[in-house]
Order: sequence, then C-alpha cells, then structure tokens
Amino acid sequence: MDRRDEKKMRFNTKLLHGESVKQYPYHATIPPISQVTAFQFDSAEEQEKVFTHRAPGYAYSRVGNPTVAAFEQRINELEGGNAAIACSSGMSAIALAMLNMLASGDEVIAGSGLYGGTIDLFRDLRNFGIGVKFVRHVTPEEVEPFINERTKLIYAEVIGNPGLDVLDIRAVSELAHCRGIPLMVDATTATPYLVQPLRLGADIVIHSSSKYINGGGNSISGVIVDGASFKWDFRRYPALSDFSRYGPLAYTIRLRTDTWENMGCCLSPFHAFMNVNGLETLGLRMERICSNAEKIAGALSELPGIQVNYPLLPDNPYRELAMKQFGGRGGGILTFRAGSREKAFRVLNHLKYIVKASNIGDVRTLAIHPASTLYINSDEERQHAAGVYEDTIRISTGIEDAEDLIEDLTEAIVAAG
Ligand SMILES: *Cc1c(COP(=O)(O)O)cnc(C)c1O
Repeated sequence: MDRRDEKKMRFNTKLLHGESVKQYPYHATIPPISQVTAFQFDSAEEQEKVFTHRAPGYAYSRVGNPTVAAFEQRINELEGGNAAIACSSGMSAIALAMLNMLASGDEVIAGSGLYGGTIDLFRDLRNFGIGVKFVRHVTPEEVEPFINERTKLIYAEVIGNPGLDVLDIRAVSELAHCRGIPLMVDATTATPYLVQPLRLGADIVIHSSSKYINGGGNSISGVIVDGASFKWDFRRYPALSDFSRYGPLAYTIRLRTDTWENMGCCLSPFHAFMNVNGLETLGLRMERICSNAEKIAGALSELPGIQVNYPLLPDNPYRELAMKQFGGRGGGILTFRAGSREKAFRVLNHLKYIVKASNIGDVRTLAIHPASTLYINSDEERQHAAGVYEDTIRISTGIEDAEDLIEDLTEAIVAAG
C-alpha cells in the first residue's frame, strides 16, 4: 500500500518525492540522460501510431524525449498544471506561448516594466500584426480602460525584473476572466517556491528555467505551463479553432503538436537533466536567497543616500501584497540607486565576492548596471518604467553568508564616495 499522501506533501518533500519522480525509467533516482536523436520501432504500424499521437512513445527528440519529459512533468507537478512544455530558452517559451494563441489583428495588454527581452519581442510581434498596449502597472484599474474587442491576452510578470512590481494574480485574473481574456504570467523571479500562479487564477505560466529552477547557472531553457482552465471562445481565438474539439485542452494540444513542434525550439536532454538536478534544491536555495535579499535590502537602506527597492521593505507599496501572496517572502532580487552612474560603476568595480554578470537566480550573488547593459536598447521612458535609472544597480542574491555580502556591498558603497 502506498502511504504517501500527495496532497499533504510539502514543497521541499515534493521536490524529491513527488508523483513525477516515480515516472523515471529503471526506477532511477534522477532521470537518465536520453542523449539520442531518434527512437526505433518494431513495426511500421507502431511507428505510425506514435507519429500520429495515437499511442504514447518517442520517435524523434525535437517532438519528445524522455529526459525532457521528466523535466516537464516535474515542473507541471510543482505548478499544479495540466501540462508543461519545455523550450530551448525563456524567450522561446514566451514567443511560442503567444504565437500559439494570437493571430494578426489581436492585441495584448502588458506591463511597461517587463524584462527587456520580452519588450523587444513585443516589438517583433508588431510585424505579424500583433499589437501591445503597455500599462504602467498591471492592476485591474489600469488594465480595464484598455480592454476592447481586439484584446486577447493580459501578460504580466509576477515580480517584475528589475522593477520589482508585484502582480496581484487573483485580482487581475478575475478582471481578465470576466472579460473573456486569459492571463499569462512570467513567474521566473517568483518560482513555484513563492507562489503557484495557476492556483490563484492565472491561465498560463512561463518560466525562464535558466534562472532559479536550474539554479547553478549552467543551462539556458524555458518552460510553458498550461492550467487548461481557460474556456476558449474559438470564434475569438482563430489560432486555436482547428483544435476546438479539445475544449479547454486546445491550447496545450495545439502547442504540443503544432506550434512548439513546428517552430523547433526544443530543449536538449542534457539541459533538461541539469534542470531536474537543480530543481531538487529549489526550496533550500530560495529560502536562503530570499533571506539574504531581505537582509541586504535592510542593511543597505540604513546607509545614507542609498535608495533601495525590495518588496518587503516597510515603505514599499507592494509589501502587503507580497506578504500575503508569497507567504512573507520577497524573492531574490533587489535594486538600489547609488547616486550617479559613475558612482554605480565604482561600486561594481569595488566588489570582491559579488560577481558582475547579467543573469539572475544563480547560487552566486550577481550584480549589474542595467541602464548600460540590459536596457541599452530602451529609451529613458521605458527604462524608468522598468525601475531602471542611470544609477541603478540590480543585485540577484545567491546563497553565500549574508554578513559577507553586506560587508562587500557596504565597503564598495563607502569606497565609491
Ligand atoms: C531571463 C528572463 C527571461 C528570458 O529567459 P532566457 O532563458 O534568457 O531566454 C524572461 N523573463 C524573465 C523575467 C527573465 O528574467
């Protein structure tokens, strides 16, 4: 008898003993790397069935691979989704998640403080007739006036990177649903450790798993999770109309058998393996990462002339929402304003432990000057909307000892004058 109670399993236990772990081949404790291009069949009949999705099985690794499937099932279980589909990068996940449901003439409402790459992608989508209306904050009050009959999607980040706006998932999903529109969220910075957006009403969740999910900074990848909860009106969503017979599963099935398969942005089995390994320590890492971020934010806000942005700080407008939605945790990113661009550069150049690198969600603490790097293609207005000023430094905390990180930053700020 199986005495395990899946429903009662807590987050860290689920990371190691969840239902999807039992699906690994050979009773392996971690999924073996199926580093292979194609799979052979005993008969042409069997091959036909797998090719036409009438029987389970693997044929070709762009379309399905056991190691990639193991990663997908792990993420799907943690998010409480219907299906997860892994992609070659976070950006390809975002692009495919949109192309799977949008058609020329459609409009998206999104926050102006999005990840820089996503804003650039929206610019590319204009060439395909997909328009985007940017609002400063994705709140029901700011979004509602922009909804019209062309609006087909509301898109937001759960914690904006690097603006650190916190999305009220429940409030925005309620507005979206009452207007017949799905809510798609990029939950990269929150991770399922802070919140599982599908449970609060989001319809589709995206992660750049290159960040916290992988955790070791060793593989680029992304994942799309569909809750299959949205009731598609197929007259309004022509991109999905060929799949209308699947009802709420139409989005997943089109993505799996059409958009994702044909665009070819599949994840490599090796990277899927690295992600499954990293994922097992997500809870432990996030606990330390969040605690380090909160301690650093507190310490830096004591320094004269330093303005700190972190959702849990007492004066932060998102404090109450973050406390409630994320169970008292604020994530692993903070930003501060050094006073001037020159001073920001001097601070960065003085750091002894904190690494100057452009990613987030590593075990190492990372720092960057976003205005001269990640937001170099954005004008000042866009930069400010994303919480990026000429003197802003973004910190992605790692798992080092908080005291060393605080000492490193304080020394650098003092030395910078
Ligand atoms: C990094 C990141 C992305 C893009 O992911 P890649 O894996 O680099 O393609 C998208 N959204 C957010 C919030 C990110 O931090």
